[in-house]
Amino acid sequence: MDLTRFPRRRYTEGPTPLEFLPNFTRALGGPRIWIKRDDMLGLTPGGNKTRKLEFLMADALAQGADTVITCGAPQSNHCRITLAAAVREGLKCRFVIEERVPGSYRVDASGNNFLFRLMGLEALTVVPAGTNMAAAMASEAESLRAAGRRPYVIPGGGSNALGGLGYVACAQELQQQLFERGLRIDRLVVCSGSSGTHGGLVAGFLGNRIDIPILGIGVSRDPADQDPLVLREAQAICDLLGLGLTVPPEAVRSLGDYWRPKYSVPNARMVEAVQLLARTEAILLDPVYTGKAMAGLIDQIRRGAFRPDENVLFLHTGGLPALHVLERELLGESPVSP
Ligand SMILES: *Cc1c(COP(=O)(O)O)cnc(C)c1O
Repeated sequence: MDLTRFPRRRYTEGPTPLEFLPNFTRALGGPRIWIKRDDMLGLTPGGNKTRKLEFLMADALAQGADTVITCGAPQSNHCRITLAAAVREGLKCRFVIEERVPGSYRVDASGNNFLFRLMGLEALTVVPAGTNMAAAMASEAESLRAAGRRPYVIPGGGSNALGGLGYVACAQELQQQLFERGLRIDRLVVCSGSSGTHGGLVAGFLGNRIDIPILGIGVSRDPADQDPLVLREAQAICDLLGLGLTVPPEAVRSLGDYWRPKYSVPNARMVEAVQLLARTEAILLDPVYTGKAMAGLIDQIRRGAFRPDENVLFLHTGGLPALHVLERELLGESPVSP
């Protein structure tokens, strides 16, 4: 499958590491757990949005944009990485922030909010939960255009067909890594949020005939809502690529529940997962996405969903700055929901 006809900026040198986790595997009594370190992608500190932005920023530049507008929740990793990409490209950057938990946006908070200011964000608008974010960004773009500027709007999470190509590229990178190592992976586990990562992998695996089942762990929705979203994203990516195939619904599978009580709100299983990986492998997960996804993997292992000799690959999608927003909860010094 040829991605070269899509303009792309590069923000990472080479492939991200693919590592075996011997201590973590031992602590859980198997299966053999591997991790792909997309937390080590480029852009201060990077994460899965870095891959999507390689295609989205190339498109913004091709259209002559001078400003990018995007949206997210308070402490959005996607917003931080978009800002970093904009800084690198010499563009201005503006956010619309949806307060999904009322009163949760604090300008002086640490983590990503601190980085927004440190990297010189031009403007930020906070809107209440349930706001039509596409419309809010379109009206921001309209007022910039009226002032003679050239805005480019990036959807939440960078999850449109073009952004999803980032994870088609990741699928190809992974295929090459597995080939070089002679490694057979039996299952891939990944966070499933705005759907570009999960959907991009589904499209990339189908297009490249990579026969590894993908298990998404929902970070904000149960499967009845999440799976159709991912299926639509995967289909949109296949269509953009001109693959001429219909994504079979059974190619998309996710688990719910681990995200509760609410998106971004900590729970006890997440705290255990973050602590366990930090204390066995010195790898840092985040509380909103990868901590909850790893809690899902740990729980599935304990329920016997994997054979002990399976090779399971966890895709680490980043999110490091959010660790610092919940330090006391992650140390077990502040209560979290069960
Ligand atoms: C955005 C994000 C995700 C979710 O990825 P989607 O493509 O939105 O589904 C997972 N992990 C981290 C750290 C993120 O920032």
